[in-house]
Amino acid sequence: MKTGLFYDPVFLSHDTGGHPENSGRLSAIMEALRTGGLLERLQAKTPRQAVMEELAPIHDPGYVRRVEEAALSGRPYLDTPDCVISEETYRVALHAAGAMIDAVTQVASGSLDNAFLACRPPGHHAEHDRAMGFCYFNNIALGAQWLTTRLGYERILIFDFDVHHGNGTQHSFEERKDVFFCSIHQNPMTLFPGTGFPEERGRGEGRGYTVNVAMNPHSGDDDYEMVFRQQLLPMFREYKPEFVLISAGFDGHQDDPLASMNLTVKGYDAMIREMKRLAGECCAGKLVSTLEGGYNYRSLSECVSSHLEILQDDAF
Ligand SMILES: [Zn+2]
Repeated sequence: MKTGLFYDPVFLSHDTGGHPENSGRLSAIMEALRTGGLLERLQAKTPRQAVMEELAPIHDPGYVRRVEEAALSGRPYLDTPDCVISEETYRVALHAAGAMIDAVTQVASGSLDNAFLACRPPGHHAEHDRAMGFCYFNNIALGAQWLTTRLGYERILIFDFDVHHGNGTQHSFEERKDVFFCSIHQNPMTLFPGTGFPEERGRGEGRGYTVNVAMNPHSGDDDYEMVFRQQLLPMFREYKPEFVLISAGFDGHQDDPLASMNLTVKGYDAMIREMKRLAGECCAGKLVSTLEGGYNYRSLSECVSSHLEILQDDAF
């Protein structure tokens, strides 16, 4: 299959020092893709910077200028101390956002079958007007917004399996039904950002189109698979998405230092295989997945390699 890999060394230059979200994550992923021989089977795509009209209305233009100003002025962080910035942060974040717009556009047009963004900074915690949880621009929300408002799609499914709740993405779409947002994550009573309770189900026209599943700490592959098959897949099928987006965070892995889950590569593989099958049934396979969390270099690079293997392989 024609699987696009959106990556550029520019993603390494968002310098966060000894922060868990650092450039070593992407270096480890790219090294694993190279040595595993997978890289040559992927369509390498070079990201470009998003422009203001692609960021609004997901982000307030005043906030976009604030990210730029903070990065260029040499401030150590933006909004919260965990959102560390460097001089290059704004430019790098614009490239991640631009990669998402190009990825959804190219998959929509059929020039790619599906795509993965090996990008940073991640995006799913970024809110309309503030940075949060290592995130500055909400890449996946920008993709869904572009698909609905510019490319005419009416039913986008976002599945977020990062171990943390995708608060920024939820808040972008919770009053809409053209974007169905589902997040499965560690119980918010026990983990950042403290939102994502099952009672959060969307509002107004969007009521029922936000779904949150809070998993107990130490849940593993079997626990995830049971919820995914019995609860989530039937809902996804009923929604009949015209395009599938995935916030692929691998910080629920048992070796990840930031959370308390027991997922392995096998558990992640089971979910992406089913998501790929769903996209095949509902929307000619149109699927774009983007990297969110994952902070153990080894488990992260193993999970991403396997994820891409499944996306690229015709047999799945
Ligand atoms: Zn996370």
